[in-house]
Amino acid sequence: MEAKVSMNPGVEERAAFCPLCAAPLELRPLFGMPRKACVRCDYVMFVSPSAAAAAVVTRGRDVLLIRRGIPPFRGCFGLPAGFQEYGESPAEAAIRETREETGLDIRIRRLLDAHYTLDDPRKRVNVVVYLAEIVAGVPVAADDASEVAFFPLDALPEPLAFESSRIVLARLRNEFPTGDIL
Ligand SMILES: [Zn+2]
Repeated sequence: MEAKVSMNPGVEERAAFCPLCAAPLELRPLFGMPRKACVRCDYVMFVSPSAAAAAVVTRGRDVLLIRRGIPPFRGCFGLPAGFQEYGESPAEAAIRETREETGLDIRIRRLLDAHYTLDDPRKRVNVVVYLAEIVAGVPVAADDASEVAFFPLDALPEPLAFESSRIVLARLRNEFPTGDIL
């Protein structure tokens, strides 16, 4: 089971050559900080967090979790989640990832939170978390998930993958000490 925390830099921070012309990159003070710029062409490498989305899919007071079949946090349970594709909204990403990992079609009920996270070793990530409900389907683990199950909000498996998920679920426990999660 993996639960390590890392500040691993993204690919842009490790890159040594221009992606447009393959000449070396050099650090230059540009737009307020040192940035990698191509020694030959005009390319400047801007480094941004990746974008991801997660879904808190509820059924009464139960929360849908997947057991992660891939790193990071392989073997831990976590929310259905994944990186946002270029061309889709965060909400669309949450819906697609939930369908891919659980076989369930969901409807977004509301925005829960947005977090800047540092515990994904692949990249620093902005995660948008939605509250959602099932509209169709039967839970079947697939894609990055090796298991899919509902857990009571008060008895979630530990350690849960990703700090952002732990924060959101702790907040829901405080906001809804009893009854359905709304
Ligand atoms: Zn270049």
